[in-house]
Amino acid sequence: MTDGKEVIIQVKQLKKNFGSLEVLKGVDMEIDRGEVVVVIGPSGSGKSTFLRCLNLLEIPTDGDILFHGQSILRKEMKIDKYREKFGMVFQLFNLFENLSVLDNVTVGPRRVKKIPKEQAEKQAMELLRQVGLEDKAGAYPSQLSGGQKQRVAIARTLAMDPEVILFDEATSALDPEMVGEVLQIMRQLAQQGMTMVVVTHEMGFAREVGDRVVFMDGGYIVEQGRPKDVIANPQHQRTKDFLSKML
Ligand code: ADP
Ligand code: MG
Repeated sequence: MTDGKEVIIQVKQLKKNFGSLEVLKGVDMEIDRGEVVVVIGPSGSGKSTFLRCLNLLEIPTDGDILFHGQSILRKEMKIDKYREKFGMVFQLFNLFENLSVLDNVTVGPRRVKKIPKEQAEKQAMELLRQVGLEDKAGAYPSQLSGGQKQRVAIARTLAMDPEVILFDEATSALDPEMVGEVLQIMRQLAQQGMTMVVVTHEMGFAREVGDRVVFMDGGYIVEQGRPKDVIANPQHQRTKDFLSKML
């Protein structure tokens, strides 16, 4: 492509209702390969629901999502195969407490991708090294700090070799002194060219790492743009109000 851009996700007039509650009311978005999109907005504005629609943890009520130009909502779509392309990192880590760190990282590749144990473990050790936790391979989640747990969760996500990683407030449950170590791993991934959609309240991260900031409120995208523009010079009153509470 001449401008070096490759659109991998196109969201078109996405709507999601829960019963009579309209949560997403018509969201449009395009995400390029390697782009880091930071989604901000008040609690209840539909940020998590948006992420969950992207990987079909929620089925949209209306609108469409195209992945490499093809609708993921078409009948013949293989949902499990599609979900494998997306990693998701949650606020509360969701590690398997009864498995060691190493087994947490290898269980997906072994069970889902049928990768042999030895190969899965070799790859897992490499990923644990990348997140600075090689020496914790034999530990159990209960023996780790929150920041370490989240770094294991990121290694586990990477082990599935996703095309896109969705981060849903990945640092919101951490003690303040552990936020930085997780943001640092996320920053490394961004520098390596990973495509990321990041819901966060960390405005420093949004400004330094985000290619784009999207402000959501009431089920709509209110405004979006380059982080320095949106954060320093918001155009809409609702964005101004939200940001003034963040600082
Ligand atoms: P955010 O992540 O921006 O805080 P959410 O996407 O979690 O917002 O939620 C948006 C709205 O949708 C909230 O009012 C929430 O209560 C509602 N909601 C989210 N998930 C469900 C669900 N599974 N069933 C019913 N309501 C839901
Ligand atoms: Mg949320």
